[in-house]
Amino acid sequence: MKTTVCYWLIFLLLSVSTIAKTQSQEAHIHGLATLTLALENKALEIQFESPAANLIGFEHQANSPEEKQAVKQAEVILKSPKLLFSFAGTSCKAIEKTVDISGVTDREHDQHKHHNHSKDHDDSSHSEIAASYRFSCKNTQELNSVATTLFNQFPRIEKINAIWVTETRQGSELLFPNRNTISLR
Ligand SMILES: [Zn+2]
Repeated sequence: MKTTVCYWLIFLLLSVSTIAKTQSQEAHIHGLATLTLALENKALEIQFESPAANLIGFEHQANSPEEKQAVKQAEVILKSPKLLFSFAGTSCKAIEKTVDISGVTDREHDQHKHHNHSKDHDDSSHSEIAASYRFSCKNTQELNSVATTLFNQFPRIEKINAIWVTETRQGSELLFPNRNTISLR
């Protein structure tokens, strides 16, 4: 029985991540970001994906000291899950975090200095910043909701498409600065 539940959950997680991927590929919309939450046993996985513009104001390779500083600052914030997420019903502690800023730091075509510094070229290509977290929760059964401060940390984010899945339920919610809580029940 337990194995069945496990397979089902894996299937569900795969579907959710496919949906999230398809959405983010189809619609790279400035102002919109995506959060995917998956609750299993004692662990909560949270994935965050956003156009880089929402977090740092640009999407080309960071070149100037100011741009590099903006990237660094966003990275520091994204590496602070304690600052970004709070939980109601039980307590959860971040045990893993990964931040991917390669979209604005390792863009190969930008590695070589262009002779004409046309910004138009850079602006035509979009890039994303992603982060993922794994939390260990005292009692996932009692986790009622997850609130995020992403809107406060990154005021360019206008809305967040939040998709969540637990062992028994799934759902999605559109979050706004004045509505920053994902209800899991
Ligand atoms: Zn973009």
